[in-house]
Amino acid sequence: MNDPFNAILRALPSMDSLLAKGWVSLFEDELGRSAVKSIASEAMDELRKEIIAGQRVEVEENAIEEEIRRRLEVRVKTKLKPLVNATGVVVHTNLGRSPLAQEAIETMASIARSYSNLEYDLSGGSRGHRGDHAEWLLERITGAESALVVNNNAGAILLALSALAKGREVIVSRGELVEIGGSFRIPEILELSGAKLVEVGTTNRTYPKDYQSAITDQTALILKVHPSNYRIMGFTSSVPRSTLADLARQSRLYLVEDLGSGVLEDLTESGLPGESTVSECIKDGVDLVTFSGDKLLGGPQAGCIVGRRDLIDRMRSYPLLRALRTDKMTLAALEATLSLHMRGDWSSIPALAMVTASAEDILSRAEVLAEKLKKELPSWRVSVKKVYDVVGGGAFPEHPLEGYAVAVASPHMSEEELCDFLRSFKPPIICNVSGKSLLFHVRTLLLGDEDHIERALVEAWGGGR
Ligand SMILES: *Cc1c(COP(=O)(O)O)cnc(C)c1O
Repeated sequence: MNDPFNAILRALPSMDSLLAKGWVSLFEDELGRSAVKSIASEAMDELRKEIIAGQRVEVEENAIEEEIRRRLEVRVKTKLKPLVNATGVVVHTNLGRSPLAQEAIETMASIARSYSNLEYDLSGGSRGHRGDHAEWLLERITGAESALVVNNNAGAILLALSALAKGREVIVSRGELVEIGGSFRIPEILELSGAKLVEVGTTNRTYPKDYQSAITDQTALILKVHPSNYRIMGFTSSVPRSTLADLARQSRLYLVEDLGSGVLEDLTESGLPGESTVSECIKDGVDLVTFSGDKLLGGPQAGCIVGRRDLIDRMRSYPLLRALRTDKMTLAALEATLSLHMRGDWSSIPALAMVTASAEDILSRAEVLAEKLKKELPSWRVSVKKVYDVVGGGAFPEHPLEGYAVAVASPHMSEEELCDFLRSFKPPIICNVSGKSLLFHVRTLLLGDEDHIERALVEAWGGGR
């Protein structure tokens, strides 16, 4: 090693002196000392390599500190943490979909902390079946003969197709070959299951005769898929569920439906018509219905399958199930959430409470928040605006929810600067932007979130004065 390199390397601060800096202790509180040390030494190692390779001939004193701080900040930001959802999207996949009901959280914590009868039959003292109670509740709520719970809805569909159609044909309308959330594509799941996709109809129109003429002795089932956020307007035609059920029965095929969000209660009276409930699908003659646990059901991530007992039994004994099985904490949260549905206690399920909240209630919450902000931030522009919120998760895409937001514009920060500041706040706050204003939709705010928003904006104001 030649001398100039050595001189630069020797001049680098020691790890001990870096870790003794005041600002480092803040990161130690969040990440722990060993993680901070590992990030700092990774940065130092890379710097040393650059020096030895001759890519760096001088290193400024605070450049090292700044690089280490930058890496620590990135690490802190990626840590899973609660945040404030002021976007008005209730089932927001990027923000963790449904917040859980208090009862679900408590049940989950008690099961997490302790041993449980997860697979133990307390009446006989013998081995029991995982998911028993959640499945019993699903049967009662949906009117289906049998139920099965797996890791998520994608897993539910994969399991159904593998167990019932591997090596055989599955008929799907071209209007339903959707991609959901960027990573779930019906054709890919079908391929993975070993079933062969037979597309029928066109993107906008599919008739009973299209299904009829696609049926061969190789056909195993007809798959109906909820189109989620994807809608073709105008000149469209699809085959009613009951017609498909008749066709499947006559041809000795199964009708499987991916219902996506899986609405358990009719929400027409809350101003949300147009989604079939799971029990309506069962009544209409669908053999198996699959749906998510963390969309409008308002529970944890899970895939629910309800329908014919003989088909569910086949899936239960299919080996893939073992790879898709549900964790005990998920089952605990799902059981508790389903119990709330069974009791009709929707208002205790946050996602349902938000979706069915009345416009008047939302308006008065927005007014209270706006008044507080006006008092605290006299030089800012603060007003209440009428906005549209969304259910999210693919349900009710044609039914924007009438809501209210508090619009805020700062006299000294641009909307981007303010958004950046809020994303770095503890807890981070995610909101919408409209023109020069930030919009805080109040529908999706949880208890205490208004205080976080107030504190963050006051701090933003203080920092800029
Ligand atoms: C959301 C959705 C899925 C995926 O469900 P996950 O529980 O996220 O696996 C599948 N199909 C439809 C129609 C959906 O809306």
